[in-house]
Amino acid sequence: MPPINLAIVGVGKIARDQHLPSIAGNPDLLLVAAASRNGAVEGIPNFPTIEAMLDAVPFVDAVSLCMPPQFRYDAAYKAICAGKHVFLEKPPGATLSEVADLEALAIEKGVSLFASWHSRYAAAVEAAKSFLVSTNIQSVHVVWKEDVRHWHPNQDWIWQAGGLGVFDPGINALSIITHILPTSIFLRNATLEFPENKHAPIAADLNFTNSDNISVHAEFDWRQLGEQTWDIIAETSAGKMVLAEGGSKLTINDTVIPVSSETEYAALYRQFASLIKRRESDVDLAPLRHVADSFMLGKRVFVAPFHD
Ligand code: NAP
Repeated sequence: MPPINLAIVGVGKIARDQHLPSIAGNPDLLLVAAASRNGAVEGIPNFPTIEAMLDAVPFVDAVSLCMPPQFRYDAAYKAICAGKHVFLEKPPGATLSEVADLEALAIEKGVSLFASWHSRYAAAVEAAKSFLVSTNIQSVHVVWKEDVRHWHPNQDWIWQAGGLGVFDPGINALSIITHILPTSIFLRNATLEFPENKHAPIAADLNFTNSDNISVHAEFDWRQLGEQTWDIIAETSAGKMVLAEGGSKLTINDTVIPVSSETEYAALYRQFASLIKRRESDVDLAPLRHVADSFMLGKRVFVAPFHD
């Protein structure tokens, strides 16, 4: 089969760091165009808008949308209406309803829609899932603490409504636990800390449970200096599981478990190409639903203003 002609939209940090190298390394994909108001990709035609790109390069088969979530729906709508397969960066949109709308539209137009969750493809996630399905889980503790000034310098969108604040990294943890836990969970209570001068939280403390009375406690914090922490710890009848470093390292009762060597974005693009070939979509909204529940149920506490 000839390669899938792919275009990228929103050439910013994640497009440069991860998408471009992963696309270049996948023989099923050929990058043929980019659309970005300020960014550009060398060696291919670049356009200021997705409309201009779709008009000028009609042989584009699929697009990857790498802009912030508040601006993804409009681009996705245009691409799907033009008959293109669509890769949505995480989180797939600013609301649950707009992504459900895109999912229905993709079915109507007969294209593949991929709501990607890169952390689900971290090296040790499948091994953690296999372990948890084989045991009884007593409790889970998620600690996702990082320094926002280091990871998100000058990203205003992240502090605006729909930018999700600390849930931008926190949703990665939620994407992992919703994938590795054998049963679904729901939020019982939550506290969200909002800087006085921002529309999105800087920290969140979440308690989930389910009908089996499992306890899942998640702590997200953007004020972490020094060592950064992206860990999921489960106490189980077979002992203690630590899924550390954002899903890339697994220890069970202090024994390090061998894991996959494929990078997250290489695996995402392998999945996208496979979905297109099979004419299927992959749209799991569970992580975004937990974020929406947190904004709906969470107590709001106002904390010191945040300045970059
Ligand atoms: P970014 O660099 O701030 O934004 C990406 C690009 O989106 C920008 O360079 C900009 O390109 C375009 N954009 C910004 N505002 C826009 C608007 N109002 N309308 C249309 N396009 C706009 O952000 P990023 O870090 O790459 O993150 C983008 C997405 O990737 C987010 O959903 C994030 O959660 C996800 N992600 C990021 C990381 C990471 O490490 N940064 C990791 C995994 C996933 P132009 O100005 O050229 O149009």
